[in-house]
Amino acid sequence: MTDITDLTLAELRDALKAKKVSSLEATDAYLANIEKATDLNAFVTVTADKAREMAKASDAKLQKGDGGAIEGVPLGIKDLFCTEGVQTTAGSHILEGFVPTYESTVSANLWRDGAVMLGKLNMDEFAMGSSNETSYFGPVINPWRVKGGNAKLTPGGSSGGSSASVAAHLCAAATATDTGGSIRQPASLTATVGVKPTYGRCSRWGIVAFASSLDQAGPIARDVRDSAIMLRSMAGHDPKDSTSVDRPTPDYEAALGQSVKGLRIGVPKEYRLDGMPAEIEKLWADGIKWMKDAGCEIVDISLPLTKYALPVYYIVAPAEASSNLARYDGVRYGHRAKEFTDVQSMYANSRAEGFGKEVQRRIMIGTYVLSAGYYDAYYLRAQKVRKRIFDEFSDAFGKCDLILTPSAPSAAFALGEKSNDPVQMYLNDVFTVTANLAGLPGASVPAGLDAKGLPLGLQLIAKPFDEETMFKGMFALEQAANFKARPENWWA
Ligand code: GLN
Repeated sequence: MTDITDLTLAELRDALKAKKVSSLEATDAYLANIEKATDLNAFVTVTADKAREMAKASDAKLQKGDGGAIEGVPLGIKDLFCTEGVQTTAGSHILEGFVPTYESTVSANLWRDGAVMLGKLNMDEFAMGSSNETSYFGPVINPWRVKGGNAKLTPGGSSGGSSASVAAHLCAAATATDTGGSIRQPASLTATVGVKPTYGRCSRWGIVAFASSLDQAGPIARDVRDSAIMLRSMAGHDPKDSTSVDRPTPDYEAALGQSVKGLRIGVPKEYRLDGMPAEIEKLWADGIKWMKDAGCEIVDISLPLTKYALPVYYIVAPAEASSNLARYDGVRYGHRAKEFTDVQSMYANSRAEGFGKEVQRRIMIGTYVLSAGYYDAYYLRAQKVRKRIFDEFSDAFGKCDLILTPSAPSAAFALGEKSNDPVQMYLNDVFTVTANLAGLPGASVPAGLDAKGLPLGLQLIAKPFDEETMFKGMFALEQAANFKARPENWWA
């Protein structure tokens, strides 16, 4: 038989149900891959004992013909999701040693459906970053390398542990979160599929908050089908999150393979950036052609406010972060400074020691834009532009059903290449932040390789709560792209 870890999540799910493999075998096989892949630095915590225990419980159910939708399937969990009894760091020193006494709703939903937890995945600190270099636990390394080269590349961020571990087959699929692109950009850089659902589709309860009006959970998986299966288990209404929406969760897998004939695909001219690599232009043109060949109608659309999306995001997100991160005071959880003279200096020293540079930068920006005298000029104005960006999308969706764009402005870049220039780093989100600002679902699908042999993704954006049409389009894109490349295994 082929290596169990080469099975897709859907194949493994079916093999488990048919009792061709056991969950314990699959779990052991993944744990062996993880052990050999320490060079990738994808995991902050490996929960081997817990994984085997969960796998045995799943096997007992599978033996009796019982079990949930993904019974016995081993997953990785981004270290932003609180997991009961298992350290949850958010990639930060300030939360090192924090062991939650509760489980996030999204991870609880996955365990309800039978999944097995392999461990907690590395990420940018508090999900702030696009390269995984802000993690206190060191950067994650992309399994992909330039053809013939051995330079270390970023797997994207902030969900770099999720994207790298899925690409390297260290788990069947992973959870991730996306505030400005953190599911879709790392998926694009690692040839994985990343889905950010509509704001409100997944509960945010028990996910360490970054920017609450933008944060959404979603899967990173090997293919479109696997991402559909994952999202179905992760999503659902949760009374513990007032922004989670009370709507039934559709069977996304059932949408795959449905005809896309007559679907209108919008192509926004403002996403054609000056200086964008020709290969990304070409890939985008390929994507347009593929959808046309599949029977879609291509419509030119205009989203002129796109140029304000990044500035708006980098006001709103830090503003919310500065408020959310006020709770890390060295008293209730995580790191506390050893040296202080009074309670003020205890707070200040704990925060200065506990937060990394990028997080401190965001807190300073956020505090500034919210401060008296600047609030109207920055935060309030950004909120107004945000509303207009939403309106602009609503108008565009009068003319089309899905919007097709590149996922990221470049392929994977080298560690250190952008980390000294925050604005360069922020530009990574140029194609993805708009969907967060407008609350729309967006997904990245692997579509091709650049001349250096690195993967590139295409993004589809859909109407609110119309993930089913998005999955239909993603599947058509995946079929047409027929992307089969795999990174050479240099790490094991
Ligand atoms: N790269 C963006 C940021 O640093 C988005 C991160 C995210 O989506 N969590 O804020």
